[in-house]
Amino acid sequence: MQAVEIRPDSGKSLSDEHLEFIESGESEALDAQQILSWGIEHFSPDLSLSCSFGAPEGLVVLDMMHRIDATSRVFTIDTGRLPQATHDLVDRVRDRYAKRVEVLFPSEGHVREMTEAHGTNLFYESVSRRQHCCWVRKVEPLRRHLATQRAWVTGLRRDQGVTRSETRKIEIDHVNGGVVKLNPIADWTHERVMEYVRSHNVPVNRLHGAGYPSIGCEPCSRAVAPGADPRSGRWWWEKPETRECGIHVEEEQGSGI
Ligand code: SF4
Repeated sequence: MQAVEIRPDSGKSLSDEHLEFIESGESEALDAQQILSWGIEHFSPDLSLSCSFGAPEGLVVLDMMHRIDATSRVFTIDTGRLPQATHDLVDRVRDRYAKRVEVLFPSEGHVREMTEAHGTNLFYESVSRRQHCCWVRKVEPLRRHLATQRAWVTGLRRDQGVTRSETRKIEIDHVNGGVVKLNPIADWTHERVMEYVRSHNVPVNRLHGAGYPSIGCEPCSRAVAPGADPRSGRWWWEKPETRECGIHVEEEQGSGI
């Protein structure tokens, strides 16, 4: 597979003052709105929110960002395997906020090459094939987009699992080419997220009501029992340590599978 062109460490284009602020960890004392306001002030329009439309966190951050700046940008990745409920939610959000949702797509050539070689359901065969599918359908389109950005925003929370426990509110994202990464609700609990959803009437994915706490692609997401680990419905056939798509952590990728 062809390597993705990543802009050279764009974190280096930050002023010394910004870098010092990020590296000092002072941002940990800021609340979510202050983190977002800082990002919007310093990086707009080269800053955008990543929203999967499959978890309430991204929608909460979208709502907060929109209240700070109605022109704030949001993007999602149409992997080609999303459930209909997720597409429906994208439309609801467009209507509710009168907002453009930027949709990223995988490379048609990469999808064809992968499915012709390994079939369309290769992700059930091994961790490396699952990661390869996530790379083609999610990571590569994301990195193409981030190569045009100075900063991005996520709805990551530390208590979402072992792979996210070290998340900082503002960090340099070396996994994705050195852009600045804002995680404004890193220290929020699930209960706080749901309280925001209720109090601000934030639209969320209807599959949550069917027992899906976290929704990704349709073949890789399932409902879980009440009280179970919310991430346990994603790639449930794998160990918890590997249940990431590669967007937020460096994973072994490549075409040699
Ligand atoms: S979640 Fe599943 S279908 Fe979607 S990109 Fe990853 S492996 Fe492929």
